[in-house]
Amino acid sequence: LIEVRGLRKAFGDREVLRDVGFTVGAGTSTVLLGPSGSGKTTVLRSLNVLETPDAGLVRISDAAVDFDVLPADRALRRREIRELRARSGMVFQSHHLFPHKTVLGNLVEGPVQVQGRSREEAVDAARALLEQVGLAGREDAYPAQLSGGQQQRVGIARALALRPEVVLLDEPTSALDPELVGEVLAVIRDLAEQGWTMVIVTHEVRFARDVADQVLFLDEGVVAESGGAEVLTDPQHERTRQFLGRVL
Ligand code: ATP
Repeated sequence: LIEVRGLRKAFGDREVLRDVGFTVGAGTSTVLLGPSGSGKTTVLRSLNVLETPDAGLVRISDAAVDFDVLPADRALRRREIRELRARSGMVFQSHHLFPHKTVLGNLVEGPVQVQGRSREEAVDAARALLEQVGLAGREDAYPAQLSGGQQQRVGIARALALRPEVVLLDEPTSALDPELVGEVLAVIRDLAEQGWTMVIVTHEVRFARDVADQVLFLDEGVVAESGGAEVLTDPQHERTRQFLGRVL
């Protein structure tokens, strides 16, 4: 479902991504692991062009942007990017909910305003999603009335409300108090079981082991090691071993 090839990105003279490539199958979960600064978040943000790669290709199902080709036509490039973005939903470290909107309002906003779906249908879909993330009955609460874990679960439901083909999660639990991490991870685990395609940046190695069909270990801007969950239990590369030795 996802193809990434030859991804490069520099911030000033610091090359953060040097040559990143991988594929993600439909209905699978991919976990990006690696030391701080290895480029995980930059990879994730490149998938929906929140970060513009300097080179390489990103494809999600039938939408692709080839950053190796200089766009002769800027309008065409903007259209390509819009098409690519429409295929993913992003869950951020902290939830970015609209504070002045209710939980339901947060979930309905995108489908109605951006996707032009009917309010009635969007509300029904939103209620079903809230049930799925364990927040049935909290439709009318405002974000500030919820715990951090509940807010993040709304953030997840909001990403799903757009019916993306892929859910991108950027360290979805790292801003939470430790006692709230479990409930959010449980929701993500459910989504994996239901067959959502996900790409997840996380430092939670145990969780990664539970949920990952594919593990990509990033180091200094390249995928240093990749494979199934065995990468976590039986890493082949010294850098992966060092990293896992530190965090486990
Ligand atoms: P962490 O685990 O700490 O979140 P990461 O592997 O996700 O790290 P990235 O966030 O992708 O790493 O960042 C990789 C490097 O790029 C870091 O050194 C970071 O400081 C730098 N970087 C990221 N975004 C920018 C930016 N907008 N401008 C300048 N430098 C940036």
